[in-house]
Amino acid sequence: MSVWVIAEQRDGYLQKVALELLGKGRELSEKLGVKLTAVLVGYEVEKLANTLIKHGADEVIVLENILLKNYTTDGYTNAIEKIAIERKPEIILIGATNIGRDLGPRLAARLKTGLTADCTGLDIDENTKNLLMTRPAFGGNLMATIECPNHRPQMATVRPGVFPLPCPDDRREGRIEKIDVKIKEEEIRTVVEKIVKSLDEKIDITEAKVIVSGGRGIGNKEGFEMLKELAHLLGGVVGASRAAVDAGWIGKDHQVGQTGKTVRPKLYIACGISGAIQHLAGMQESEYIIAINKDENAPIMSIADLGIVGDVYKVLPELINEIKAY
Ligand code: FAD
Repeated sequence: MSVWVIAEQRDGYLQKVALELLGKGRELSEKLGVKLTAVLVGYEVEKLANTLIKHGADEVIVLENILLKNYTTDGYTNAIEKIAIERKPEIILIGATNIGRDLGPRLAARLKTGLTADCTGLDIDENTKNLLMTRPAFGGNLMATIECPNHRPQMATVRPGVFPLPCPDDRREGRIEKIDVKIKEEEIRTVVEKIVKSLDEKIDITEAKVIVSGGRGIGNKEGFEMLKELAHLLGGVVGASRAAVDAGWIGKDHQVGQTGKTVRPKLYIACGISGAIQHLAGMQESEYIIAINKDENAPIMSIADLGIVGDVYKVLPELINEIKAY
């Protein structure tokens, strides 16, 4: 019996969510008294196994084949399915990235089990030992906790950024098992011809320590220049509410919230953002929250560590000047 984390890598680099899942997976596996296994799929990726062990895995299963160099639905599903049927994990956790959201349901269907997508919380029921999978439902207005009592494995995709990164322990040791997966070209019905990286890929608000976020209260696209300046001075990046993204003032990659990204920076400055539940879902774990809003009763004020009641067009220029003078 074990808890599995599918450790996603791209171009030979582990995705942060893989390590976040190991942190949570460690806690779950200890509650169940079973081992924690990381499953690494790709080609020449064995070198990443030690990082997974340092972050909590007891063992790493490395599934290698040249045909698994780039992600394909068939390649990854076939490779993991075979070993999952053989080893019968109790739980399989996958990051809810673009790849994870494609792989998770396919794998669940092959293993004839269910999948709870886009979870924001995981725990073990003390009595039944079932996995409790929590996710927003009904437009984020309630949190639903879902169990899968009759089928195994219990499967969940989990949003990146919801669980903290575990501290690596350089002394940790674990078992690495490399399997050369038997896979034929004709099993893979899609071919990756080339990968074109968009410039926007450089913006990863989930990694930022400081986020200066703007909402409808910013009023227009030009207003975001002010936020960019403040973010630059603080060594951070610009985030946004969905209202600002929908208005076309900034790209979707900057959106924080239920249908955007989940962030937990050291400092989150919400400018002209009301604090709708769907926005809070993506940022309320930030270490320190400053809200600038002209409405002292805006919901964001109730979770802010510091609330500044005022017009962003007065407060922000003053703040920028102060920081420049500092
Ligand atoms: P508003 O709610 O309009 O708030 C604007 C705020 O700015 C107000 O509080 C106002 O007092 C203040 N203000 C106005 N002018 C100024 C000024 N000059 N100076 C200072 N303050 C000012 N939203 C997200 O953000 N992220 C999501 O991922 C997301 N997903 C969603 C998913 C679903 C299924 C649904 C139904 C909704 C989702 N939403 C999401 C939308 C969400 O419900 C809100 O509509 C949105 O967050 C509102 O954005 P806002 O706070 O910028 O705008």
